[in-house]
Amino acid sequence: MLNAGGINYCMNDLPSDEKISWFRERLLEWFALQGRRFPWRVKSATNYKKIIVEVLLKRTQADTVAKFFPSFLQRFPSWKKLAQATEDELIEILKPIGLHRQRAASLKPLASEMARRKGVYPRTREEIEALPGVGQYVANAIELFVHGRPRPLVDTNMTRVLERFFEPRKLVDIRYDPYLQSLSQLVVSGENPVAINWALLDHAALICKQQLPKCNTCPLLERCRYGRQRGTHSSNI
Ligand code: SF4
Repeated sequence: MLNAGGINYCMNDLPSDEKISWFRERLLEWFALQGRRFPWRVKSATNYKKIIVEVLLKRTQADTVAKFFPSFLQRFPSWKKLAQATEDELIEILKPIGLHRQRAASLKPLASEMARRKGVYPRTREEIEALPGVGQYVANAIELFVHGRPRPLVDTNMTRVLERFFEPRKLVDIRYDPYLQSLSQLVVSGENPVAINWALLDHAALICKQQLPKCNTCPLLERCRYGRQRGTHSSNI
């Protein structure tokens, strides 16, 4: 057993360091040229913006959130302002991006707690997970963006790229699959963990799409398990 970023994994199940490095390098090169630009990715973006947007991005396309984000920020520029909204107000305001009831139900208690803490984020994983409305994904986002720790923002899109390139996970629920969790942790554990997270998410949105992945323009094709299998059965890639 080895340990990456505080997570234990069995070395035999996971790809070699060389393969992970190759994957990271190709993806980061591609991201430098093709990565998407969003307001929450600029250098001056505050931690509030970076964390709040992750709640808004859950199961929602980034382009949809990008259109909605400026007006949301104008109305709620801080945890304090957000905490002053009622849950019903939030439900109404969040309607354009969907999942409004779930998002309002998690944002309201989180905003109240963060306002009470005067915007100071807890430091330990245990304390972060104890924040109301914070699950694994947002906890990882807080560790990554606020504390600069290498943590993967594992969602179904990042999972798709990792599974196609490396191996499928073993469990249905991505939050508990030890292979996927360990693999994603290893992939983001090199330099610039924020960039590699964004690169994975952008690659999933632009190249390794759910339907009809663009393997013919993919920088990972040479060593991709799924892309190479697909190439042997289809002249379409
Ligand atoms: S080669 Fe195809 S399946 Fe593999 S990562 Fe690239 S787009 Fe996805």
